[in-house]
Parts: sequence; structure tokens; C-alpha cells
Amino acid sequence: MLPKLQQLLPSDLLRHNEKTMSKLKIAVQKSGRLSEKSLDLLKKCGIKLPNGGRVLKASSPNFPLEVLFLRDDDIPQYVEQGIADLGILGQNEVWEKGKDVNELKPLGFAGCRLSIAIPREKEYTGITSFEGKRIATSYPNILSDYFQKENVNVVIEEIGGSVEIAPSIGLADGVMDIVSTGSTLIMNGLKEVETIAKSEAVLISNKTLSPEKTSLVDQLLFRINAVQQSKENKYILLNAPNTQLETITEILPGMKSPTVLPLAQEGWSSLHSVIREDDFWNSIDQLKNAGAEGILVVPIEKMIL
Ligand code: ATP
Ligand code: MG
Repeated sequence: MLPKLQQLLPSDLLRHNEKTMSKLKIAVQKSGRLSEKSLDLLKKCGIKLPNGGRVLKASSPNFPLEVLFLRDDDIPQYVEQGIADLGILGQNEVWEKGKDVNELKPLGFAGCRLSIAIPREKEYTGITSFEGKRIATSYPNILSDYFQKENVNVVIEEIGGSVEIAPSIGLADGVMDIVSTGSTLIMNGLKEVETIAKSEAVLISNKTLSPEKTSLVDQLLFRINAVQQSKENKYILLNAPNTQLETITEILPGMKSPTVLPLAQEGWSSLHSVIREDDFWNSIDQLKNAGAEGILVVPIEKMIL
């Protein structure tokens, strides 16, 4: 028996909408150093995601976005092929894989550098000293490009992980790996001698997105920018004698036309503005000397310029 029309319509429409409405697909690292911060960024952009478990795919209930959880190595390929429209991963992986994708925006987390290190006791005399030497790395493409530009011939030993032990087991004369603090190198008796590149997490996109998806990416970028701006800036409130307001405004370079409100105490005002956090710390003594009191610096959640 056919279902009544009224019973059929709502769910059918919903299904129809889901099929026809463009949804962005973003690939993030399933588990690793980038996972938490990638999801945190989406959350700060106001994009809700269902809580957890070991799912491979999750759909946001309040933004047309589907998150695919993958190994970071696979993300450039999926984005190039359009299986995912966007991806979040380390620039180091993007450069190594050399896929045809757009780097849309550095994201300000997972900062590290790609460096060459050699055993601590070896004397280092410059890049040409690597001529004919063996270097172990998980980034053979980045490394061979680098030495090609330097016109030095090296033998690259590609290994998947634990690169730092290569010299001590006789596999290589040096290593090229990701370094953040440098403590892993030191623990393995190595010293950093060359920095090849600096890397951080980046948002990449497929090169041929539909106009509909491009507009969704713009919306997402708008939110990411608002989140990033808010991180660098603080809301500042301080009290000062009216006679000092001009001097104080000059001390804080970021503070353009602050809001000035009279205080109950005659001759005093409260000054409110948005400043870069760095500017604040660099000027704190000058501010106090200029007569600022009761200084409050508070975080900003979102900032639209
Ligand atoms: P997957 O299982 O997804 O392939 P992975 O083992 O390749 O993960 P992680 O160790 O989780 O990768 O690192 C992911 C990225 O985090 C790196 O590619 C790099 O961009 C960044 N990163 C930042 N600091 C460090 C660090 N100290 N060591 C390693 N990676 C770092
Ligand atoms: Mg990986």
C-alpha cells in the first residue's frame, strides 16, 4: 500500500535537500599532533560536530561541512582528487607530497622546522661537507630538492620514523627531520646544523571547487580570520586622569580612537580599546608611568574587522 502523501513529504524533502545542497568536505588528521587543534579551530569557528568515538566521518548539524578523519600523509592526495575539498595538515607534508592543491591559509599551530642534524662530536664545516654522504629522512623529496639547489650530491635513505637513531646504528651520516624544541635530537646525540624550512599547519583546498563550494570556503575563511584576529588582540580597559589621556593614547600604537568614559571621580576617565597583545607588554611600564591605573586586559572571543 502506498504511504499517504503527508507522511511521505517531510522526510523526502529532507533527503532531497541533503543530496542537492553542497556540503564542504574537510580532511583532518585522525589521530596525532594536529587532530585536537584542527577540531578546536572548527569549534571556535562555531561549527558543531557530533562528539567523538572512532568515526571516520562526521557531519556538522549547523554548517554544511563534513569532516573526514584520515592519516595526514593521505590528505594531499584526497584534496587533489576532490574526495575532500579542504584539508588541514602540516606544510611539511604538503611540500613533500607535491600534489596539485592550493595552500589557502597558514593556521598558526603545529609550528616546527625541518632541519639537518649530525652526530654531536663531528665538526661541521658547511653544506658542502655533505657531498657523497648518506642522510636519513622521512622527507626525501624536500631533502633532494634542497641539495639539488645547493649543488651537493647526497645519498638519501628514506625511512618511515625514528629517523634520529640512523647515525648511531650506522645507517647514515646525518638526518633531516622535523624539530620543534630540539630535545629529541639532543637525546640522540645529534646537533642541528642546517634549517631547511619552517612549517606550520595549513588549510589546503582542491583547485577546482564549484562556485557554491567556493562561497562556503569563503564563509569558513571569514570565520577563521575572525578567530585568528581575536587571538592576537586583547580588549584593554584602564583608568587615567583626563590630563594624561592623550599621552596614554600615544603610548599604545594600536589604540586608535579609544572609547573614553567619564568616571564618577572628577577629572578621571576610563579608556577602552583593542590592542595587539605584544604592544601591551612592550608598553606596560610607560603606561604606568603615564598615570594609568586599574589596567584590565581581557581576551576577545571573535573579532570582525
Ligand atoms: P599520521 O598517523 O596521521 O601519519 P604522523 O605520525 O605522520 O601522523 P604527527 O607526529 O602526528 O604525524 O605530526 C603531524 C604534524 O605535526 C607533522 O607533520 C608536523 O607538521 C607537525 N609537528 C609539529 N611539531 C612537531 C614535532 N615536534 N614532531 C613532529 N611533528 C610535529
Ligand atoms: Mg603522517
